[in-house]
Amino acid sequence: MFKLVKGIIFDIKRYAIHDGPGIRTTVFMKGCPLRCWWCHNPEGISPRPQLMYLEYKCIHCHTCVNVCPLRAITFDENEVQHIDREKCDVCGVCAEFCPTSALKLVGRTITVDELMKEVERDVNLYDSSGGGVTFSGGEPLFQPKFLVEALKASKERHINTALDTSGYAPLDVLKKVEPLVDVFLYDLKLFDEEEHIKYTGVSNKIIKRNLEFLVKIGRAKDVLLRFPVIPGITDTERNVSGWARFVSSLGGFERIHLLPFHDVSEKYRRLGMEYRMPTREKPSEETMKRIAEEFEEIGLEVVRGG
Ligand code: SF4
Ligand code: SF4
Repeated sequence: MFKLVKGIIFDIKRYAIHDGPGIRTTVFMKGCPLRCWWCHNPEGISPRPQLMYLEYKCIHCHTCVNVCPLRAITFDENEVQHIDREKCDVCGVCAEFCPTSALKLVGRTITVDELMKEVERDVNLYDSSGGGVTFSGGEPLFQPKFLVEALKASKERHINTALDTSGYAPLDVLKKVEPLVDVFLYDLKLFDEEEHIKYTGVSNKIIKRNLEFLVKIGRAKDVLLRFPVIPGITDTERNVSGWARFVSSLGGFERIHLLPFHDVSEKYRRLGMEYRMPTREKPSEETMKRIAEEFEEIGLEVVRGG
């Protein structure tokens, strides 16, 4: 009974307009093998639930301090909350008792059946806008069993499917998933392997090979390339021209989306995670223009944003 297969997700966003064609429902799945310095969805990195603290909602009632069975929460003399994340086992008791939802658990398990009930709510919108469901994350290919069954369930309901991926997955997983996906949103990060390892934690060989595979089987037209413009990291002339040459040599792609960096340090703080970006600045207009021109020169339509 595949519909009972469970996955772990951290959000379901309805009425999404930047995650593929038309109006979509985006399912954000937890777990990712990459560690990109600029990751805009840090809650998608860990495959497990996490505790998030929203300071602006806290009324300093100290209920959390008293209910935590592991004594993992304290407040200092300035009423600043500290969560000992080594001690915390993410049981969720504090979030349950917090009167203002200043503490919340990010990440929940869901069956394919439950997920499809959510996704189906907007089926009329998908039909009228050419939209559908997008699986994002995190890295959706990191939960292949759940993803395959969720994609199959979507196809059974004639819902258009998109996969937002880093491309980092075993080829046999991609082969299983590919026939069930209508549109791939495929990220290009660092062209140089050493730099890719430095800024994402993994080699780019698999990512390039998987992109080549999609081209080889005639799916290039279904791939929306996405290029995160990260100041001082991906925006160098060498990196952009490396990707432009590679993409051009593969051929068949029609479009690339430029995704400008924005500061998400607050999200990291709320999750107690380290934010490694050395800058908080958005890419300049000049940089965006230079990169757009380079990709236009190889015949791609360039779209700014999702
Ligand atoms: S999630 Fe559980 S262990 Fe962690 S701080 Fe809250 S109550 Fe304590
Ligand atoms: S229970 Fe919630 S509102 Fe009260 S101190 Fe803890 S985080 Fe703040």
